[in-house]
Amino acid sequence: MTMLAPDDVAPAAPEPEPAAVPVLSIEDAKVTYETPRGEISPVDGVSLHVKPGETLGLVGESGCGKSTLGRLILQLAKADAGTVTFDGEDLTSVSRSRMRALRRTLQVIYQDPRGSLDPKMTIRQIVAEPLKVHGLAKGAARDAKADEMLLSVGLDPQLGDRKPAELSGGQQQRVGIGRALITEPKLIVCDEPVSALDVSVQAQVINLLQDLKERTGVAYLFISHNLAVVRHLSDRVAVMYLGRIVEQGPVHDVFARPLHPYSRGLLASVLRPDADAPERLAEVNEHIHGDVPGFHEVPQGCRFHPRCPYATDRCREEVPELEKATGDHARDHHVACHHWEDIVPLPTALRAR
Ligand code: SF4
Repeated sequence: MTMLAPDDVAPAAPEPEPAAVPVLSIEDAKVTYETPRGEISPVDGVSLHVKPGETLGLVGESGCGKSTLGRLILQLAKADAGTVTFDGEDLTSVSRSRMRALRRTLQVIYQDPRGSLDPKMTIRQIVAEPLKVHGLAKGAARDAKADEMLLSVGLDPQLGDRKPAELSGGQQQRVGIGRALITEPKLIVCDEPVSALDVSVQAQVINLLQDLKERTGVAYLFISHNLAVVRHLSDRVAVMYLGRIVEQGPVHDVFARPLHPYSRGLLASVLRPDADAPERLAEVNEHIHGDVPGFHEVPQGCRFHPRCPYATDRCREEVPELEKATGDHARDHHVACHHWEDIVPLPTALRAR
């Protein structure tokens, strides 16, 4: 019998890395509002997760429910059903005081920097305010931390004595980012954070967000119309249509090979590097007809069926669930379509570039 020398023994297979516990996990969440015309549910059966240190981009046309989902995470909108678990706690059932405490590690950057900064406060006071609210620093130490944060977001600490109106839009958004980061959050909900800025400033703010993520390990839920920005900044992307997630997966997979007919229409329309989600998809995609119906007239079955060129009787009756795409699309790519496997792939020329 041949004996194996120690060096001949095949090395043991490396232990698989344990899957990271998501910092945010939303399960089957629903948000309903009363309106004069009846109830509407801009978030209806949404499930998604964000892992520590990753960026999940959330895209879709105007009025698809993206911002309501952001408000749900911040508990500015209440869930009628489902759970929103942040850092191990279900936000839908915590007390108000516990929610206030959790906001230290769950922050937000708003779309309109000017509107989100108190015009009467100085820049230093604004950036330092979360430290004061959460009792994390006082007096000179608090001011020193604020100045340090101003430097981190690329602002001269001398601007700390000024008021928001004395700063440009890009500088104001840097202040908003500094205020969100100063408590060392685990997750920041970025709600269209560059759409109010000049195009020339957008790239600087995007690069700053990317750089801060790499330095601090913060995770972002990045809500945006701007598909090019989402592709640049995100690790994974979720596509939302009329209150539901219709596709989600690694950003490269979803942009290179969208599986849902709506994603295909949306992403194939990105033919400019600065492209936004189109106001009317029908105008840029000949295969997709009509407009997004309102939340008062949600279609039965698949919500996309009145606009889908592939709709069948099954689509008109049965709601497609978000399911893992199998075969060569197996890498955490999920889609909610009865027929995604039968739909011919887009010609390369029509794919998002
Ligand atoms: Fe189109 Fe049917 Fe798929 Fe909906 S389920 S996207 S209607 S093919």
